[in-house]
Amino acid sequence: MLVVMNARASEAEARAVCEKIRRMGLTPHPMPGEGRTAIGITGNPGPLDPLAFESMPGVLQAIPVTKPYKLVGREIKPDDSVVRVGPEKARLGGGAFSVIAGPCAIESREQALAAARAVKAAGAVLFRGGAYKPRTSPYAFQGLGEEGLEILKEVRAETGLGIVTEAVDPPSMEKVAAVADMVQIGARNMQNYSLLRLAGGCGRPVLLKRGMSATLEELLMAAEYVLSEGNYDVVLCERGVRTFADHTRNTLDLAIVPAVKRLSHLPILVDPSHGTGRREKVEPLALAALAAGADGLLVEVHPDPDAALSDGPQSLAPDAFGELMAKLPKLAAALGRKMAEK
Ligand code: PEP
Ligand code: MN
Repeated sequence: MLVVMNARASEAEARAVCEKIRRMGLTPHPMPGEGRTAIGITGNPGPLDPLAFESMPGVLQAIPVTKPYKLVGREIKPDDSVVRVGPEKARLGGGAFSVIAGPCAIESREQALAAARAVKAAGAVLFRGGAYKPRTSPYAFQGLGEEGLEILKEVRAETGLGIVTEAVDPPSMEKVAAVADMVQIGARNMQNYSLLRLAGGCGRPVLLKRGMSATLEELLMAAEYVLSEGNYDVVLCERGVRTFADHTRNTLDLAIVPAVKRLSHLPILVDPSHGTGRREKVEPLALAALAAGADGLLVEVHPDPDAALSDGPQSLAPDAFGELMAKLPKLAAALGRKMAEK
């Protein structure tokens, strides 16, 4: 159920609705919008009676939510959400195009700082880099863990860039949330519901990557887990899905961008690095993502891609990243869009 307050309703009237919802043993989720506030209700096992709310002062309408997700849908919040991240309050969503970049994994202080300086100079608004890496092989480099987090702190202190890094399980969630400006939940954990609930309570914005065989509805339901815990700062990320095609590592599903935009108010980024697995295909797909209406990119950049300990074949060298970053504003202008401010 969604309780829509009328445009002139007072804060006290909205508060009274929230109190009533709590007294019913349910959870209110006020979502202030441009022209109105809507209050979502979660926790009810069955339908609620709209009359219980429609008789209250300031309430325009109480409407049942028709979709299985309640908080991530446009029904509750028609205007786009904007998520602000990091010391400079980098903007994700709401029209501007924002680029997050950095290496797949943090390998050393020197590597991380070189990557961070390069992506900052080229115009990235946030730095990405994994301290905890979910690897297909148990014998592959698993990330530096806490040492990696210490390096990420230094990167932020030196460059001022906000940090995006992945949590893979409950112990790493706690450590990552203490350091990161945005917590990444990777494709392999998109349906790890206990981890999603922890992300909902972690106190940081969340970057939620699409599972490699997840439908749009499964992605939105995963985001719903995070919002249902009271964390509304969620950004989705398309990173390619598994198909029969073997000319790329995954098949980047750019059609999900307009599909998400129709159904949800959450921002969506595109990751052309994991989406293609091949360096030379990153730029064309990055440009296509902008044209498709994405809110930004997540791009892997390594100071020496051929020596990378993970995902080297899909990582851009700083020069190639700079070339991509120089093309994006021109395409954005042609589309009537703007790059996010640094
Ligand atoms: C990553 O961003 O480095 C990563 C592991 O991505 P994904 O979860 O999409 O595979
Ligand atoms: Mn990677």
